[in-house]
Amino acid sequence: MKHSLLSVDDARLHILSAITPLTQQETLPLANVLGRVAVEVCSALDVPPSANSAMDGYALSAADLPASETSDLVLAGIAYAGKPYTGNSVLPGQCIRIMTGAVLPAGTDTVIMQEQVECHGDMVQVGAGHVPGQNVRLAGEDIARGQTVMQAGRRITPADIGLLASLGISHVTVLRRPRVAFFSTGDELRAPGEVLGQGDIYDSNRPALRAMLQRLEVEVHDLGTVRDQRSLVKNALLEAAGRADVVISTGGASVGDTDFIKDCLEELGQVDFWKIAMKPGKPLAFGRVGAALFFGLPGNPVSAMTTFYQFVQPALRRIAGEVVTTPLLLKAICTETLKKGPGRTDFQRGIVDTREDGQLRVRSTGEQGSGILTSMSKANCYIVLPADRGTVQAGEQVDVQPFAGLI
Ligand code: AMP
Ligand code: MG
Repeated sequence: MKHSLLSVDDARLHILSAITPLTQQETLPLANVLGRVAVEVCSALDVPPSANSAMDGYALSAADLPASETSDLVLAGIAYAGKPYTGNSVLPGQCIRIMTGAVLPAGTDTVIMQEQVECHGDMVQVGAGHVPGQNVRLAGEDIARGQTVMQAGRRITPADIGLLASLGISHVTVLRRPRVAFFSTGDELRAPGEVLGQGDIYDSNRPALRAMLQRLEVEVHDLGTVRDQRSLVKNALLEAAGRADVVISTGGASVGDTDFIKDCLEELGQVDFWKIAMKPGKPLAFGRVGAALFFGLPGNPVSAMTTFYQFVQPALRRIAGEVVTTPLLLKAICTETLKKGPGRTDFQRGIVDTREDGQLRVRSTGEQGSGILTSMSKANCYIVLPADRGTVQAGEQVDVQPFAGLI
């Protein structure tokens, strides 16, 4: 595979097939599991636990509903949410005042809204046209006991937190987070806060990488900026591989005079140096250093982020035990010309929105160079142009990959 031009899809498949998901588990309080990957959860309860009223009104037996005209029922008690009716089973000809969420008293199976009855003292007059069983939420209608409520491999969402709470679950077993160690390389790189010398630039890849990793709920180990010296790069790789499941570096992976990553990896690991048929982000190193999986991302900031999102993010999700689906692509009308040469998949940065008639439309963020980081920050999507496509004319349809959900 070395040195050949790989398609984006082949590279992604190759990476995903090289991964064994983590299996270790830990049990955490419900408040701490948002974004973590679940193991299967089955319900030990019915939700709701008992039949209850969906309305404020009157509970009665369907047998007492008048076929025509009206009937008068005797008010025999009150049922509140959290304070059930405690009297004997409700008899024919009786009804119970009931509030939303109150347990349906024995002997009743139907609720009439309070606006639809007439009350005279203890007598409640009910008209025709009601349906047996109406306005009642049945026991177990949301979740039945024994039902799977969370599939293994699901990343826990706010709705899942609510669902788990509705089952009375205070602690949740989840998969361990992948440990990811990362560093950037380059003699020219300075940290924000430092003074720039002639030819220096601020290191933007490492903070962006950390931020992308934080969104994935992985454990991050930031090993700093490593200067372009063989021994320093080698030490950084060894340290990273010793403490992490995944190692990520940026820069130094091409064929410049100070690009030591490749030399070091030939000595320390089993790594392929790919040229991927994509723009931005052509070079990508992938393999292993020790037991850790290794990704060597390009140094150019847009290339580093794009290769992260297209390859490293799905890989980390699979390692974390998540069931990884193919990225969501939507069709949008492009409102301007996009220059593109054939042969590589372009991930141009775009701004997608919805036209008044509901059609999605997308425009470019402008200058598309791999060093133009503002293109990533202005964008809310990638415009994904397949390898065999040429220049896009205004009005043509394109695929967009929204950042929402991706990031
Ligand atoms: P390299 O892949 O190391 O040859 O770097 C390619 C380009 O990306 C050069 O212009 C570098 O200065 C720039 N670059 C590399 N690493 C970073 C970084 N961490 N932050 C910002 N720019 C970088
Ligand atoms: Mg460099």
